[in-house]
Amino acid sequence: MSVDPWTPSSWKNKPAAQDVVYPDREKLDKVLAKIQTLPPLVTPSEIERLRHKLGQVQRNEAFLLHAGDCAESFDACTHENLSNKIGLILSFSLILIWGARMPVVRIGRIAGQYAKPRSSPTEKIGDREVLSFRGDNVNGLDPNDRTPDPERLLSAYFHSTTTLNYVRALLTSGFASLHHPRDWSLSHVRSPALREEFEKMTEGLSDALDFTRTIGFGAHQTSYEQGGGRGVLGEVDFFTSHEGLMLDFEEAMTRKFPISSSLQSTSQAASPERPPNVYYNTSAHFLWIGDRTRQLTGAHVEYFRGIRNPIGIKVGPSMAADEIVRLLDIVNPDREEGKVTLITRYGAGKIETHLAGHILAVQKSGHPVAWICDPMHGNTLTSSSGLKTRHFGTIISELTSCIRIHAECGSRMNGVSLEFTGELSEDGFSVTECVGGSMELSEEQLGLRYQSFCDPRLNFEQSLDVAFLISNSYKK
Ligand code: PEP
Ligand code: MN
Repeated sequence: MSVDPWTPSSWKNKPAAQDVVYPDREKLDKVLAKIQTLPPLVTPSEIERLRHKLGQVQRNEAFLLHAGDCAESFDACTHENLSNKIGLILSFSLILIWGARMPVVRIGRIAGQYAKPRSSPTEKIGDREVLSFRGDNVNGLDPNDRTPDPERLLSAYFHSTTTLNYVRALLTSGFASLHHPRDWSLSHVRSPALREEFEKMTEGLSDALDFTRTIGFGAHQTSYEQGGGRGVLGEVDFFTSHEGLMLDFEEAMTRKFPISSSLQSTSQAASPERPPNVYYNTSAHFLWIGDRTRQLTGAHVEYFRGIRNPIGIKVGPSMAADEIVRLLDIVNPDREEGKVTLITRYGAGKIETHLAGHILAVQKSGHPVAWICDPMHGNTLTSSSGLKTRHFGTIISELTSCIRIHAECGSRMNGVSLEFTGELSEDGFSVTECVGGSMELSEEQLGLRYQSFCDPRLNFEQSLDVAFLISNSYKK
């Protein structure tokens, strides 16, 4: 079968699901022309480094943690929110490293995760039918501000820049050092058992580091990063990601560079004299295709097949087993390692029916992939008070089924994709969006500090509960 040539704009010849219609096309073109001139947010060598690390994840040499908010908002771009978010990602990964004795690759849903797919283009608010909120880079949450405004794409670029700048600064100034785990803010964790478990672990890790230093190893290693060397964003490796939904924006951030050879993950190493040019999406290290936009003949798959970045594909219950393989053939025809991560999200009640068949089809095809479990998106429901929520028990159930089914199929769950937040309410408490966990949050308590304007997130304590559960099940 012949394949049409790819260009950063060839997606425009295909139908785009979840398309945003801008009333002022001229203004959009002007904004996109401006974005095209702005500098990249991330570099080709950082992107190659992530591909290399994801190759390790595929070979079970590292574990992938993909986590953050369902959607970022411009208003939540504050010092407190960002440091709480990074602190939670670091704490979570520390627990995994300690239990599984494996390096953790951290990818935040951060510095660009603004756009949201919606189940319906419009929604009813009071007695009015208005356009649905599509994320801060498209329109406003306020029902009177729902007309898509291209200027918001520019604002998203600058909020991403600010976010990334602060994340890079945090990670290069000792925030991730094991000697300051308190900076990651455990003060508001209520459950004494959870605090104790975390403190026991950090003390154990400190002792282990002191011991290594005493016997002469790792004298200069102040962070807990295993494997030595300084990471992409400072002391520890940290990468950014978002759903590649707004293709106009993604195209404007797609830049041609000679393939970065410092850390190429696979055998297509270019000859040192003439590295070939490839296209990098320079707005994030990692981008994923959502479950609603993964049509084989659609615009999103077309765009994704041409970029050099490692990519994720959401795999829900409506995906047929042969469809995954056809999708992999399109986005990764050369079967490059470290390129594709499959993010499964069936729901606790459906994983038994689908996962094994999907694993077997991919195994038979010979495609290299990382399998990670998103136990959030198949388990969303509406509480009796009308708030969107998720039960901690069903999240754990999908996770434990996922670990078991992979083992039964001679495969392995290589990581997790979570929506969590270290955000605190104004009165200093964790948010209350998901039910259950060691803090035993009840449905009646959901309304107390419900802050998400999108999907419900695990709070700090509930996230650490999940981290200990995974860490214990991978304990060596
Ligand atoms: C998400 O990750 O926020 C999301 C919308 O996921 P999915 O595409 O799997 O529904
Ligand atoms: Mn979500």
